Amino acid sequence: MFLSLFHAISVHFVFLFCIFLQVSSLRAKIKFGENLCKKLYFHTAIATFFTHPLIYIDTTQMSKVKTVYRCEQCGTDHPKWAGQCSECGEWNSLLEVTLAPATTHRAQPKMGGGYAGQAATITTLNKVSVSHETRLATGIGEFDRVLGGGLVTGSVVLIGGDPGIGKSTILLQTATHMAAAQSSALYVTGEESLSQVALRAHRLELPTEHLKVMAETCVERICEVLAQERPAVAILDSIQTLYTETLQSAPGGVSQIRESAALLTRFAKNSGTALFIVGHVTKEGALAGPRVLEHMVDCVLYFEGQSDSRYRMIRAVKNRFGAVNELGVFGMTDKGLREVANPSAIFLSRYDEAIPGSIVMISREGTRPLLVEVQALVDDAHGQPRRVALGLEQNRLNMLLAVMHRHGGVQTSGQDVYVNVVGGLKITETGSDLAVLLACASSLRGKALPQQLAVFGEVGLSGEIRPVPNGQERLKEAIKHGFKYIILPRGNAPQKPVPNVQIISVARLHEALTEAMNLSEELA
Ligand SMILES: [Zn+2]
Repeated sequence: MFLSLFHAISVHFVFLFCIFLQVSSLRAKIKFGENLCKKLYFHTAIATFFTHPLIYIDTTQMSKVKTVYRCEQCGTDHPKWAGQCSECGEWNSLLEVTLAPATTHRAQPKMGGGYAGQAATITTLNKVSVSHETRLATGIGEFDRVLGGGLVTGSVVLIGGDPGIGKSTILLQTATHMAAAQSSALYVTGEESLSQVALRAHRLELPTEHLKVMAETCVERICEVLAQERPAVAILDSIQTLYTETLQSAPGGVSQIRESAALLTRFAKNSGTALFIVGHVTKEGALAGPRVLEHMVDCVLYFEGQSDSRYRMIRAVKNRFGAVNELGVFGMTDKGLREVANPSAIFLSRYDEAIPGSIVMISREGTRPLLVEVQALVDDAHGQPRRVALGLEQNRLNMLLAVMHRHGGVQTSGQDVYVNVVGGLKITETGSDLAVLLACASSLRGKALPQQLAVFGEVGLSGEIRPVPNGQERLKEAIKHGFKYIILPRGNAPQKPVPNVQIISVARLHEALTEAMNLSEELA
């Protein structure tokens, strides 16, 4: 580094000297004869020509950094070490990595550059033949539903979740089912030994005679075996244990995960083998490894809910072949994960009598309406008032309480507010707003809302109740489950009255609060 700097400076001086000579030779034109001047000028010009590029060569060599600090979380390269990644904000995530020369850094593409390895050609959109993707059944209806109606051949599905939540269990169930139903399956384990996998299969009483298994962590070797075997589906458990021979770093690192996933994705597109890739999650609940992993694959599934609960939920965070946010609900049994036929029923608590602060909301996750109970507890604060939201966004709760104060006349400033969505479910849509506020008001006033009441609607900043998508479907779900009173936005009100059901359509928040409290008095 120091030597090259010295070299650059010396070359620079030579260069300046040449310019000086050039200038003086032009001046000399006046003093000396024409011939001498021409000679001098010629020599200096040549000298300049040869020394000039040296500077560039030298400076480019100087600017080449041999090592960078790479963020383990997002994969961003930083020239200097820092405590926090400036890109994703993660602390202590920068690790020094040595950059290999560009030519050997990336794995050699053997299969061509285009999608599925075919050479790319240009065509017009109308000439593109629309082929319907072939889907394979996984043997669990709810799992097919999350995948958008079955597993698409040649697709790559990333499945993440806390340890012990059931990732390996559901994939082993799927693999044995698919192996038994003609389509061949291969289970590649890098985490557990083959006997541990066999033990689990026996415990779950799964048919084991058709499923092929292999314990391997080298991606190149896995691709080789997959190319020979050509299974319909392969399961890789997990991406953090895989490594590619093209990189020197240890398995589990950002570059290893990225390159391994890239190789596998390319292989899946090329061969038509569908891949399930298991990924571990960090404490914050995101998939460990670079965010690019999520962009690379076709479908990202996350397990939700606590691992000690009886129920498991799988949410499609990304799906190229189906609805995003689709939620599959499963029950954990000693025979593995079983689909829950009527998921609305498990999120509803059954009390003998109505209690204050509890209400049923009609939410919609993915393509299906769900009835979910929301509970609120509003109590006198001792010191700084607390706002706690479980299963909902904290900021949204703060905003809603402010709207309720201004436009509903309900004051919660000296109060602790706790809101909980029953069943460990995470609600991501705004249709839950009205239910949250009615639950808070009910708890604050100590007045129970009728058990036969279900609610949905978005609350705007000016206190208006805004319609939400798929109102009719939500209404139908509530009626199906025997709810007799439904408070909904005026924009979602049905054209015709529904027999035996009292539909209360509201346009303003204070209207909704009054109607709900009236109902509570009527039934008291
Ligand atoms: Zn980062």
